[in-house]
Amino acid sequence: MKNKLRFAPSPTGYLHIGNARTVVLNYLFIKSIDGEMLLRIDDTDIERSKKEFDNAIIEDLDWLGIKYNDLIRQSDRSDKYDEAANMLKKIGLLYPCYESDEELQRKRKLNLSQGKPPVYDRSALSLTQKQHEELILDGKKPHWRFKLDRVVINWNDLIRGEQRIDCSSLSDPILIREDGTYLYTLPSVVDDIDKSITHVIRGEDHVSNTASQIQLYKALKSEIPIFGHHSLMVASDGSRLSKRTGSKSIKDIRGDKIESITVTNYCARIGTSKSVEAFNTVDDLIKSFNFKDISRSPARFNFNDLEIINAKILQGRSYASVKRQLEDLNVGGEDLFWDAVRPNLTRISEAKYWWDIAVNDGIFDVRDGIFDVNDGVCKVALELLPPEPWDEKTWKAWTNKISEKTGLKGRDLFFPLRIALTGQDHGPNLSTFLPFIGLIRTAKRLNVNIDTF
Ligand code: GLU
Repeated sequence: MKNKLRFAPSPTGYLHIGNARTVVLNYLFIKSIDGEMLLRIDDTDIERSKKEFDNAIIEDLDWLGIKYNDLIRQSDRSDKYDEAANMLKKIGLLYPCYESDEELQRKRKLNLSQGKPPVYDRSALSLTQKQHEELILDGKKPHWRFKLDRVVINWNDLIRGEQRIDCSSLSDPILIREDGTYLYTLPSVVDDIDKSITHVIRGEDHVSNTASQIQLYKALKSEIPIFGHHSLMVASDGSRLSKRTGSKSIKDIRGDKIESITVTNYCARIGTSKSVEAFNTVDDLIKSFNFKDISRSPARFNFNDLEIINAKILQGRSYASVKRQLEDLNVGGEDLFWDAVRPNLTRISEAKYWWDIAVNDGIFDVRDGIFDVNDGVCKVALELLPPEPWDEKTWKAWTNKISEKTGLKGRDLFFPLRIALTGQDHGPNLSTFLPFIGLIRTAKRLNVNIDTF
């Protein structure tokens, strides 16, 4: 049988970095065993599911370079769920209950106050036919619970190892709401069976669902998939990821001009025992994937790490691979300029910043700036300016001469020149950058700074 898994987001919001990690782990794993991936949109919650989010999920996955083999939406499949629900009703495993939320809350509290687990007491199971009819006549609508076998369920989790859940500590899960709509549990199992899913990789917030779901697969006479539950992502201070603690949607990260391969690298390695490397392609990440590396402790999200990986990715990028992006940014200078600036970039958009610094006049008057420029150095530098054409050897030859004449060396020599020429106290290596400033602009910038003092 072909190995197959599914990524099953609910379209109730934009994909966030935690969801991205789930899909990346799913994808790398299934590709590493040459299997297939299904994208299943879990849109049974009609009120909260939005088309806008559904579209955004598809766009984000495309941007992340995640290719799935099939796509289904749960909202199209209620016939299948009805069929399964009817079958369960027939064998007495799905039973109607009428308790209101308040009643259930009260029972929970009572149990807790008596030191008992807050497990549903199955009182609906002892209603007589007459009582059922009266409740219905009273206008009550039932919700439906799945009758769990009160046994211990075990599975060998790909990430967490041996798992053991005693189902007598669980309430019979509600599968169908009062309005007849399905909660996530049953549709998920029905789809997994219908689509021959062999592996379910998801967040550990689903661990206790797994015990109930294993019983459902059995009740529906199906094989049980292999499960893997990864730890959840938390904010850098260990608190829940939220907008307030800096969580980002994939949409935000795209808007922030982080490369998609950076996000895949980050999601592949965060929360693992391996250090983050910057692989240039998803294929390279697939080759290095192993569930054994995933740690059980929560993965801490830190946006700064994304920027560090992004910088590494850009440093490794060939000109051919960024040519289009640079053209869109109106950055000239082709491969020589790219090679000059790429070690200094955190985001590709910053190439435009350095391009403007190289070729735009009039922004380098540092008289009002924060830096003191040694006008003596600028004067000598101007006198010793070599004739064009300039190449990557010009800077060294020129500064050697300035050094001979002024006796200045190292930072005392280079820092004032950098400030005078670029207006910045840091930046690309001037050997490769200087030719883009060129003789005329260099002369002007030195002059401006001489006039200053
Ligand atoms: N829609 C569920 C979620 O987003 C899917 C969980 C699963 O993979 O089974 O949490």
